[in-house]
Amino acid sequence: MPHAEIIAIGSELLTPFRSDTNSLWLTAELNALGIAVRRKTIVGDDELFLEETLRDALRNSPIVITTGGLGPTEDDITRKVVSRVTQRPLVLQAELLDRIRQQFASRGLVMSPNNERQALVPRDAAPLRNEYGTAPGLVIQEGDCLLIALPGPPREMRPMFTAQVRPKLETLAGSVRLRTRMLRVAGLGESQADSLIAPIYTRYANPTTTILFNNTEVELHFTATAPSDAEADALLDELVGQVEEALGANVFSHRGETLEQIIGLRLTVKGYTIATAESCTGGLVAKRLTDVPGSSQYFLEGVVAYANEAKTRLLGVPAELIAERGAVSAEVAEAMAAGIKARAGATIGIGVTGIAGPDGGTDEKPVGLVYVAVAGDFVTTHRKIILPGDRDRIRHLASQAALDLARRSFLL
Ligand code: ATP
Repeated sequence: MPHAEIIAIGSELLTPFRSDTNSLWLTAELNALGIAVRRKTIVGDDELFLEETLRDALRNSPIVITTGGLGPTEDDITRKVVSRVTQRPLVLQAELLDRIRQQFASRGLVMSPNNERQALVPRDAAPLRNEYGTAPGLVIQEGDCLLIALPGPPREMRPMFTAQVRPKLETLAGSVRLRTRMLRVAGLGESQADSLIAPIYTRYANPTTTILFNNTEVELHFTATAPSDAEADALLDELVGQVEEALGANVFSHRGETLEQIIGLRLTVKGYTIATAESCTGGLVAKRLTDVPGSSQYFLEGVVAYANEAKTRLLGVPAELIAERGAVSAEVAEAMAAGIKARAGATIGIGVTGIAGPDGGTDEKPVGLVYVAVAGDFVTTHRKIILPGDRDRIRHLASQAALDLARRSFLL
């Protein structure tokens, strides 16, 4: 199976203000064709660096895709450097020039002489039409290597790739199919998850397994290659089945759904409703639940009760309980969950209270201490967690823990 490398060209991509998203998109597209990406490089608008990078890529990879630097200005160097590295002089293509001129004319603009450069093409290179801009792309067969130069703006690059490059690569990739699957896991850290499943996945070279922590939860990515989709799927079924068994109820998503989507599905299937009472998460649990389209079917209301007095007035948490146990306590979290359940008339109530920091922690109750609770018709339960990170991360992890407790307690 041929592999590819991607070179993103543009000095702006080396600043803190703009990131190279083209190569992420291209990698997903290439992977779907069974083509692995072996290397990605970002090069500024610097002819020498680009020349060196391109020479190296053409030596090492059968497919090289560049993005950016095809525009009409002096710092758009891709065409010039490709011409030098492949030793193909730039030739003015009359049809391309006409086409670019027409594109300007159709918008009532006069083409500046600069734009003529975009009709220069290295000898024997095939230009790629740009339906959404003026910079044409290029395809060059250079020995055993296919070099493809695409424009930088994603809205120009993506349709050009889809319509004109993908069909070529499909032929090249031949009959190898690549299939992926993803599991999402809650309630386990990356290393805990890994220690449970490493004995399984290390026995397989195909599919490959990647474990990621995406800020909130562990993601497991599996990739299989085979001559057909069905064979690749069978490889995935075998490995993923064993992993699912090892992780049990910690796996909440099998097709990439978020936790809030899964909860929405389960609530709908069971005909349940839900309501939330939050302190340190400031409404984040309610926000996440209502991010899901159709959530009005099951989400009744959310209360943000920050002050102690608000917990009493809005949720009926006894003032004495708060005085005795403290606002951040298992008892208060449970009383909040039961309070909102009763007041909203919901099947399930969620309560969250904690210390998101950076201030407000004590030895006994440190920053990151959070109690999440869920109340159902017959059971109210809570979990105490101590979360790492800054305020934002603590709030996010706390919302995840609350949603996960609701899932495990009532929605499996
Ligand atoms: P144009 O003629 O439209 O300028 P170009 O090929 O010269 O096309 P660049 O000038 O290199 O493209 O980039 C134009 C814009 O496209 C950049 O300012 C940036 O916003 C976006 N862009 C370029 N490269 C990337 C990339 N790798 N990922 C995401 N965006 C990119």
